Amino acid sequence: MGDLKLYNTRTRALERFVPLRDDEVRIYVCGLTPSAQAHLGHARSFLFFDLLRRLLSHLGYRVTYVQNVTDIDDRSINRARETGEDWYAIVSGYYADFKASMRRLGVMEPDAEPYATKYIPEIQAMIRALVERGFAYAVDDGIYYRVSSFPRYGKLSNRNIDELQAGARIEVDEHKQDPLDFALWKFAKPGEPKWAFDPYGDGRPGWHIECSAMSHALLDPEGRGFDIHGGGADLIFPHHENEIAQSEPLMAHPPMANVWLHGGLLNFDGRKMSKSLGNFEPLADLLERHDPQAIRLTFLTTGYSKVMNFTDESIASANATLERLKRTYRRLAAVDAREPQREACMLLPKIEAALCEDMNTSVALAELLQWSPEATPEARSEFERALWLLGIEPGAAWLEAPQVMLPADLAERLRAEFSGEIAFDGESAEEALQRVIAHRAEARARKDWAASDRLRDALARCGITIKDSKDGTQWTVAG
Ligand SMILES: [Zn+2]
Repeated sequence: MGDLKLYNTRTRALERFVPLRDDEVRIYVCGLTPSAQAHLGHARSFLFFDLLRRLLSHLGYRVTYVQNVTDIDDRSINRARETGEDWYAIVSGYYADFKASMRRLGVMEPDAEPYATKYIPEIQAMIRALVERGFAYAVDDGIYYRVSSFPRYGKLSNRNIDELQAGARIEVDEHKQDPLDFALWKFAKPGEPKWAFDPYGDGRPGWHIECSAMSHALLDPEGRGFDIHGGGADLIFPHHENEIAQSEPLMAHPPMANVWLHGGLLNFDGRKMSKSLGNFEPLADLLERHDPQAIRLTFLTTGYSKVMNFTDESIASANATLERLKRTYRRLAAVDAREPQREACMLLPKIEAALCEDMNTSVALAELLQWSPEATPEARSEFERALWLLGIEPGAAWLEAPQVMLPADLAERLRAEFSGEIAFDGESAEEALQRVIAHRAEARARKDWAASDRLRDALARCGITIKDSKDGTQWTVAG
């Protein structure tokens, strides 16, 4: 297996990755809270972990990938109250849109996709254990985690408890003992969705405890930790800090996760995405405007942990890259599978080596673009595997030649050039071009080679190159 190095937020170091259990890798990534439309910032994180899964399985590991769904939260409940809609219909609608977008982006399905509301007994068992051992307490509006009971609090995000305490405030409607304490269970107000929880009181779980309970249930029932916990950098504090504080006091062998990986945030046209700037374009809309594979390519050009700027120029350059890949693919796809075996082409080892350096996707992509192999069956299979590894999977449409953009003034130029011999009648550029080619075909049928050459040269003056073959006359736009 390759020597994979990853930057671990927990140790703040680039480390050689070693699984906790033989060749098995267990990954938990914080999923979506579908109380609003997903945007490209969400997609960035899930695209990154999709690449990591591909690399790990390529290296020969057995990967279990869990990505949760926070299908209950204050925003969806508030929206339901404002609009009169059913809160679960709101959540289900946004989640269905998100899933459709992930499929369009070619993100592989998680091995498990636990919904918080399906894990209420596991969540309650964890809360109960925390209360019984003094890490949590109930007051009249809910059950809170006692941050002062966990001395390692703040280690992951490298924050100091005293400084955090100085900056924290208690919201007027909260009754917790300390500003840093956070809710594990919120008692239901009239009309809110609720689950029974004896002897404490009916209510719903807080966000942080869901991830602790579901990762424990699905990836680490024995309390020895799992391999990789991931999410966007905005989740390090407080969400991931709180997950650690909830999980580790109950574990036989902490840490909760061996490696903590965090993806960088996303800017739009140089600006941070924020509600006030109104630059939260829903992901589904963005995927209508841009090729999903071009979006994947824009992410490959920036290191996963860096802040990335998404602009019209970056997507235009990704589109050009995508066309280059398709040209190579078409050239290799034409290869005769019965040709004799040749040596391996050495593309995959280069891509693998780049990805093993903390997922250096920009170097991996550069290797792929620099590669210009002879068309052999081996080259074709190597290219396809490299594309899979980078999450760019060719579909049937890749084999079709691209639509050629004709020069905007072509119809006009053809009319000017051929007005003496062809009677045009308001045709489009493509139709006018076909009329000239047909006119030339008639000359060739008469064996009038002088006329055929004259028409060919006149077309060249209009920016069109033609080539005759036994299948007829092909045209291309010159240059
Ligand atoms: Zn989480």
